Formats: sequence, C-alpha cells, structure tokens
Amino acid sequence: MTKEIKLLFLGGIGEIGKNMTVLEYENDMLIIDAGLSFPSSDEMPGIDYVIPDYTYLIQNKEKIKGIILTHGHEDHIGALPYLLKDINVPVYGSNLTIALVQHKLTEQKIENVKLNKVLPSDIVTLGNLTIEFIRVTHSIAGCFAIAITTPKGVVFFTGDFKIDQTPIDGKRSDLARIAELGTKGVLLMLQDSTNVERDGYTMSERTVGENLDQIFAANVTKRILVATFASNIHRIQQIINCAIKYGRRIAFSGRSMENIAKIAANIKELNYPFSSIVDIDKISAVPIDKLCIITTGTQGEPESALSRMSMNDFKKVSINANDTIIISASSIPGNEKMIYKLINNLSRLGADVLYDSLRAVHVSGHACREELKMMLALVRPNFFIPMHGEYRHLKKHVELAELMGVPKENTKIPELGRIYGVSRAQIVAREKVQSGNIMLDGNLQENSEVLIRDRKTISEDGIVIVIVTLSQNDESINPPIIIMRGTIMPENLLETIKDSIVSHFATTGVTEIDVTDAKSVVRRIVSKIIFNQFKRRVMVIPIVIEV
Ligand SMILES: [Zn+2]
Ligand SMILES: [Zn+2]
Repeated sequence: MTKEIKLLFLGGIGEIGKNMTVLEYENDMLIIDAGLSFPSSDEMPGIDYVIPDYTYLIQNKEKIKGIILTHGHEDHIGALPYLLKDINVPVYGSNLTIALVQHKLTEQKIENVKLNKVLPSDIVTLGNLTIEFIRVTHSIAGCFAIAITTPKGVVFFTGDFKIDQTPIDGKRSDLARIAELGTKGVLLMLQDSTNVERDGYTMSERTVGENLDQIFAANVTKRILVATFASNIHRIQQIINCAIKYGRRIAFSGRSMENIAKIAANIKELNYPFSSIVDIDKISAVPIDKLCIITTGTQGEPESALSRMSMNDFKKVSINANDTIIISASSIPGNEKMIYKLINNLSRLGADVLYDSLRAVHVSGHACREELKMMLALVRPNFFIPMHGEYRHLKKHVELAELMGVPKENTKIPELGRIYGVSRAQIVAREKVQSGNIMLDGNLQENSEVLIRDRKTISEDGIVIVIVTLSQNDESINPPIIIMRGTIMPENLLETIKDSIVSHFATTGVTEIDVTDAKSVVRRIVSKIIFNQFKRRVMVIPIVIEV
C-alpha cells in the first residue's frame, strides 16, 4: 500500500463538543485539540464532563509529537489536564490559549508540561510534519486555523472560525495567506460545520457593541448586569468599554469570569484601567447607576451567581426593579428550559431582562453558509471532511462542498473512531479504533456505563432497600424491614414481599446460608414481585445481616 496520511476523529463529530482529531503520517502523530463536553443531565445524571476515550493515543504514545491547539474554548482544551497525565508531549497554542491552559494545569497541580506560545504565521516542524498557525476570528481571541504540510500534501483545518471583517482587536482572519495556500494546492480541508444550516454571513462582533451602547444610554439611572461567556474576551471588552463610557465601575462575578478577566488582562488581551474595577464584595459602596456587573451564568446553570441572584439567594447582589439585565449569549441546545426559568425568575423580581430574541445582544462565533463557501472558494481542496457538528450539520456541509466543486467521491462524512486514509489519489475509510466517552464527575474520576445506568434507574424508578436479619440460632427469620426512596408500594404488596422472603427462608432453613447467596435470593424475590405488579425494574438493594 502506498503511504497515506491517516486522520482519526476521537470527538467533535456527531456532536458539538469534545473536539479531538489525530493526524498521522508514518511515525509522526499530531493531536489537534483536546476538548471536553458538558452532558445533558437527563442523559448522564451526575456527570460533570465528558472527554474522548483516547486509548488509541496511549497505545501509540511513542509516535505522538505534539498537541496543536486551535483556540482556548473548553470544547478544544478541556480534556488536556487528563490527556497530559497519560501523554506528556509539547503543547502549541496562541498566547491566550496557552495562558488558559496554564491556569488549568496549575489548578490541577500538573507540572513539567512543555507549553509553547506561537504567534500568527509561525511555523513549527515536528518530525516530518510542518505546522503553520493562521489567524482567524471567532468568539475568543487568539484563534488559529492550522495548515499541516505532510510529504503527501497540505491538510488545512479551519478550526472554529467566522469571517469578522471588523473584529474588536482589529486583527482580521488572514484570508490572504489562506488564499495563497489554496493557490499552491491543498490536499484535504476540514471545516467548522456549526452554522452550516444558517444562510448568509455571521454578524460582526462590533454590532453587539453598538446595541449594548444603546442599552447603556437608555438605562442611565439603573444598575446594569451583563451576563456572557467568560471566554468571550472581545464581548467583555465591549461591555467594559460601554461601562467606562457611561461612567460606571465594573465588578466581575463568577469564578471563571474573575479568573479569565485576570488572565486576559495580564497578557493584554483585555484592556481596562484597574481603577475602574470594583471587587464584587465591595459593590455596596458604589451607587447603582455607577455600577456594571459582568457575570457568568448565561445558561441558567443552577450553581451560577446569576441563577442564585434570580432565586434571591446571592448575598452580594439582590435583584430588583432598578436592574437592567442583559443576557449576552445564545442558548446551548438542551439548556433552553433552564434559561427560560432564569429569565422568568429575574423578571419576577422586577428586573428588566434583555436577551437574544428581544435585542441583538449576541452574535455567533461560527461561520454561516456564505463564509463557509468563501473559505471553500479560497482553499479549493481536493478532498473535504466536515467537522465540529452533529450528523445533520456534517451532511449539509458535504452537500455545500459539492456545490462548491468538490466531487462527491472526494468528500467523507466522518465517523467517530474511524481512520481515514488520504493519498493524492483518494480518500478511503479504513479500520475503526476504540473511541467513545470517558465520563467524569467532580469527585469520582471515571464513571462506567453501569454507574450511569444505575443513576438513571434510581432517578426514574426509585430504590427499595430490604434489610434481612439472619440468626444462625433460629430456624426461620423475622419479617424483613423495607425502606423505599423515590417510589411508593401499596401496603399489601409490601406484605407479599415480606411473606415471600420469610417463607423462602422457612423452606430452605437459615443455618448454613451464605450471606452473598441470601442477598441474591432476596433481590430476586423482591424484583420479581415488583416487576409482576408494575412492569418496572426498580433498583433493589438487599442488606443481609448475620447476628
Ligand atoms: Zn468549538
Ligand atoms: Zn470555539
């Protein structure tokens, strides 16, 4: 077989989240991004994060030359602290990305990682692969598209991007360089699919600033709270600029907001005079019409400061009719209910709440169809693979690439864990490797599918605990004690359960019974009776005590 470039997706396809792509050529392997996702609570109860199963990377450890980061969003860097514990290779990213990673590693006490800051247009050579970092605009600063030159040709990753011609920091996407790569020839292009369903162009971040300015102007007598994503540095910069323009001081609220505001200010990605900042604990000293609070909690997360404010459970800020609250974010699919609850509760306390569907106080960070087309027109790749999207996005994106002249047989809708071989002549689906989810929660490091299934069973059907006392001296047993949580059984059913257990042990005798055997007998009897009655599989926990 001729030598191929191998591409493997360990996350970020079939979903928007936990991006991780692997590029391999002979003995060199690169990891592009290492993200996490936040699961919905009904699918994975009690789980805080999900990261990709990277068993394949551990198996190929010695080949891995480095981790290339496109930008600092959690769905691109969130898995790094875990991955680096198993695979300690050099990491490359922009100034801001590396600062955010450094903060994570310090928090988790991970040391001795080689973090490399790269600038736009920098070129890094690792093994036989050359990596070029190309500036693009997105909803976080310091964002790169990546061009990897292999002996077989150039592979171009757009990363997350939009084409914002008036970005807040004035640093536009480097379309000239991208066009140049296209002219020289790009073998394979991989593009962000998030907004492939949306026509036209994504609005510039600057339009949000203009709308915020109008809202600040119309609310000079009120206290203003703005909720946004902590990582959206340019949004935060615009809020700060408005606050300063209208003579307000700024308080940051929420742990991630306070952290990122500090990290970004240290590296001059965020600019404000320190005199205009007031500690959230000291805001009572500032008149309400001279204050602007910038907070997290746009998704209605129950533990966030904004949610607690909405429930009147946040000591530092109590919401009332003197507040104008701007929710400067979109809802992440799945969070809608929590967000509406938040808006309802804040409104009930008397606040005036402005959100996306009322005022244009948010724009997306991802390219819409016309921008995706423009990128395809500039790059003109031989082969095309869509990424960063659910299946429906990937499918639509492949059709868009066809429309832009990439032959159908030169495109692939990628599958998680599948290796794709790319040569100058063709792109072929090869074998599948181990892939999937690693579920993490705050205390337990790793969670199995069984654990999640148990949590679901308990949350849907409840739990029945049956306590049986066995005494070696007795011929039979006393009626067991039954404790229920999250379920109710009629009295006669409880009697049936007790009688069945007692009569079982009366027949078999109690002496010589093994505790483990007794437990499984109890579980079987109880489960069967409940199933016959309700056609439900309630979790039964037998406790057998020997006295
Ligand atoms: Zn992303
Ligand atoms: Zn992103």
